[in-house]
Amino acid sequence: MAPGLFKCVECNEDANELHRDYSNGILKITICKSCKKPVDKYIEYDPVIVLIDATLCKIQAFRHILFNTEINIHWKLCVFCLLCEAYLRWSLLQGSQPSNDPADIIRYTKEWEFYCMFAVAALELSVFCAGVLFVLWTTQRCCGSSLKLAPLLKALLLSGYGKVLLIPAVIWEHDFSPLCFSLIRLFVLTSNSQAIRVILNCSRRLSLLAVCSGLLLETWAARALKTLQVCSQDYLSML
Ligand SMILES: [Zn+2]
Repeated sequence: MAPGLFKCVECNEDANELHRDYSNGILKITICKSCKKPVDKYIEYDPVIVLIDATLCKIQAFRHILFNTEINIHWKLCVFCLLCEAYLRWSLLQGSQPSNDPADIIRYTKEWEFYCMFAVAALELSVFCAGVLFVLWTTQRCCGSSLKLAPLLKALLLSGYGKVLLIPAVIWEHDFSPLCFSLIRLFVLTSNSQAIRVILNCSRRLSLLAVCSGLLLETWAARALKTLQVCSQDYLSML
């Protein structure tokens, strides 16, 4: 990586390297000039520990993942999370409909519904990201600084990894499933907020404002889609 591309996970100070490789095979972790702590303690840790700390929304783990690693799986992760969400919506839809209709057993019909759920989930995620980015862009413009959209979008998509928990929540269906879905949603929003804080090094208030704005916009878009669907069904039934 180019000099200054790393960040200290403790104080967010720029760093040129994470460790120094001496010629006799000895590696020494770089100490931050600002806080006098290791620049990135996580390079010694097992990835499972990093994942646990990220799950606990520790800001140091987020800095390690977003600044000091070259993880580029955000688009693949995004598609996988959307598939999980589409599966949840599709399974709820199947559960709410009576299964004695012969049309329900036609396989391609169900697949079509699944693709529709995937498209709706993708649209809602796009609206959420657009809302968050718009609020952050506006506030940064008001402060006179520019906003780099690509790292923010990457951080938003990566921090949505909690949606994969929807799959076990659907498979191990029980009475507390709705509560689980709400908790997973809350966890994803908390992760999103923490990721924004790390990328912009901004206050918790601003990151929460951006996430809440994105959520409001997404809720509005979901309701508009629902209304559109009901209206189109009424129109088709009148024909
Ligand atoms: Zn430091």
